[in-house]
Amino acid sequence: MVSSVPFVDLRPQHDPIQPELEAAFQQLLSRGDFILGEALTKFEQDFSAACGVDHGIGVACGTDGLALGLQACGLGEGTSVLLPANTFVATLIGVLRTGATPILVDCDPDTGLIDLDAAANCIRPDTKAVVAVHLYGQMVSPSALFAFAEANDLMIFEDAAQAHLAEREGYRAGSLGKAAAFSFYPSKNLGALGDGGMVVTKDEAVAKKLRSLRNYGAPRKYFHTELGTNSRLDTFQAAVLGLKLPHLDGWNADRNRLAQRYDAAMAEFGALSPLENHSGEGHVYHLYIVRLAREIDRNTLQASLDEQGIQTGVHYPLPCHLQPAFRNLGYDLGDFPHAETLSQTIFSLPMYPGLLESQQDRVLEALRICLAQPALEQTA
Ligand SMILES: *Cc1c(COP(=O)(O)O)cnc(C)c1O
Repeated sequence: MVSSVPFVDLRPQHDPIQPELEAAFQQLLSRGDFILGEALTKFEQDFSAACGVDHGIGVACGTDGLALGLQACGLGEGTSVLLPANTFVATLIGVLRTGATPILVDCDPDTGLIDLDAAANCIRPDTKAVVAVHLYGQMVSPSALFAFAEANDLMIFEDAAQAHLAEREGYRAGSLGKAAAFSFYPSKNLGALGDGGMVVTKDEAVAKKLRSLRNYGAPRKYFHTELGTNSRLDTFQAAVLGLKLPHLDGWNADRNRLAQRYDAAMAEFGALSPLENHSGEGHVYHLYIVRLAREIDRNTLQASLDEQGIQTGVHYPLPCHLQPAFRNLGYDLGDFPHAETLSQTIFSLPMYPGLLESQQDRVLEALRICLAQPALEQTA
């Protein structure tokens, strides 16, 4: 049996910096500032600067970044918010936690990103904001987003959980709107050794509000002015993220190079087509997504790839509006045809910095073998 290729492997990131990671742990033990410590303040400054904005507020996870960030921007009961149906459910959870009404919007079938023309048709009198999800590592077009927001008098909030340091049209993810939420879940482009998140913003008042919301609604110790929560990025995770940040550009470049190699190889497979990249080197390929011709059975293909030792994923198999938890929103099968088709026909190939070209060639060879099997054709 030839060596297998995992879907994600974090060891190539961590092995070379293990001495620094251990030193950071030692330093934390001697400083003892586990909560809201020095390394957090430094990382908030460094990461927000990397995004091109002034303020960063570390929170416990990306989902909290969305919920608290949207709340700090003034969204809540009595307002409605546009967001794509094709996203990870946390985007929707974040909107719902504010009390605002979510308005789901279909996606562009070629990129998987929110379709702003479709969004324009969904606007209601109480619609105040659009959540632009830079899904899979590609930003929503800034020029299109600015024009859309301006024409409809909407606030822009970015879900940049999959797009650390992504660029498009000269803009960085996190710098387009009122505020942006990032996740540092371990497998994200910049990942902690556990959960973590951050909101970045140019707006000082929003930053101030977030510092209070994440810390029991207390602008100063034991004085509470609003209903806040406990949602802080641990000092230790911030120290780890601060050590990893200088490597991020290189890791993203690695992802982009691997994606271009996949793209070039995909041309030979009639049944496969990658989602489109409209941002060149600015696409940071959190995931590498391939669309499968309708007549190929995805489960069978994934199972036979698995037999060849190749792990794949699906991001995501069931769009938000069809999740049992959110059926009460009143959406139904057929409401978002592009998101629904993608959910049934896409799958994700191994993609991570440090994935070797020889491993990538193994993925392609396995695809060749599996796609040649007649059993893949759906009989239905
Ligand atoms: C990962 C992710 C989130 C949630 O982040 P957590 O840190 O896991 O809470 C939100 N939105 C998108 C698009 C994500 O990929």
